[in-house]
Amino acid sequence: MFQFEMLEEHNHEQMVLCSNKAANLRAIIAIHDTTLGPAIGGTRMRQYDTINDGLKDALRMARTMTYKSAVSGLNLGGGNAVIIGNPKKDKSEKLFRTFGKYVDSLGGRYITAEDVGTNVRDMEFVRMETKYVAGISKALGGSGDPSPVTAYGVYVGMKAMAKKRWGSDSLRGKKIAIQGAGNVASYLVEHLYHEGAQIIIADKNEYKLKKIVSSVKVHIVPPEEIYSVDAEIFSPCALGGIINEETISEMNFDIIAGSANNQLRKEIADCKALAEKDILYAPDYVINAGGLINVANELEGYRQDRALRQAEGIYDTLIRVMNLAEMEGITSLEAANRLAEERLQMVAGLKNIYTNS
Ligand code: NAD
Repeated sequence: MFQFEMLEEHNHEQMVLCSNKAANLRAIIAIHDTTLGPAIGGTRMRQYDTINDGLKDALRMARTMTYKSAVSGLNLGGGNAVIIGNPKKDKSEKLFRTFGKYVDSLGGRYITAEDVGTNVRDMEFVRMETKYVAGISKALGGSGDPSPVTAYGVYVGMKAMAKKRWGSDSLRGKKIAIQGAGNVASYLVEHLYHEGAQIIIADKNEYKLKKIVSSVKVHIVPPEEIYSVDAEIFSPCALGGIINEETISEMNFDIIAGSANNQLRKEIADCKALAEKDILYAPDYVINAGGLINVANELEGYRQDRALRQAEGIYDTLIRVMNLAEMEGITSLEAANRLAEERLQMVAGLKNIYTNS
């Protein structure tokens, strides 16, 4: 059951419950923090086991978006939405347009985009009812698929991690194990292959693997073997929660740097366990910020060259995160959180500059 303590635990500003029987809509919009600007974050559609699971997912993702925007230097806040339903059966124009009306009712405090279970087409229905939506198709003036920019950000982030580990950011000759051969991974392998890395890859989907093999040379392993392969870098680009006690015990990597959201099952505890094994971990929300940078660009009139240039900043951000972690003897995740919180505090302080003088 919903309790205000759920919002108070991490200082969420607002939660909106949306219900419309005629449209078969049950949705939750969570706004974590708007200190830096309007809260931005995707809309996930999923059949949750319980409503509480949906509430928790929306709150957790909204908070991650605040930190991702803050650490990436964007002037955006953190929000997220979930639509409770089966994305394979329950989608309709009416559902997404009704949801769009709820987004619009917030007057720009929340800007939505696609996420797991929703796609560009769904967002176009949302767009019919509100301008507060990003990630729409290029044909409608949007930024389209964010994966090329996300993948580029992961690539430069991986180079920053290599620089921290080995003093050189070259990935030439490095063995890199990639989990997933989907949208992000397919762009990432292109960058890595051209730099001369050796790529090991796993996916459950044969078709996705075949597509990659047709353009670059990779070594394929079964999905369950990816954690224990002999490689210097592991790049999780498929699922969340895959770094946990069990998988960490199998790993012998130097670096983990990938696009997947919520990679660490137990966040700080798992990050500590990685540090104890001397594995450098690139916090997921820092290294995968290219997707957010891409949609943020859409708000100013989209240009991919500008989005790619901005995603290059992930290199310096990760160096700052890793330096702070080293200096303070904290995990990389704690260091990233600290940088994000410092920026939030700095901007909150600016808002009081006239009232205090
Ligand atoms: P995608 O759905 O295109 O690709 C994911 C791939 O993982 C699929 O090919 C799927 O078959 C594979 N997979 C699923 N379970 C697996 C398993 N157990 N072992 C190996 N492979 C498995 O998704 P994507 O857009 O490439 O995103 C990848 C990850 O990055 C996701 O976690 C996503 O949330 C995150 N992310 C993506 C973007 C973006 O711009 N697309 C931005 C930020 C974060």
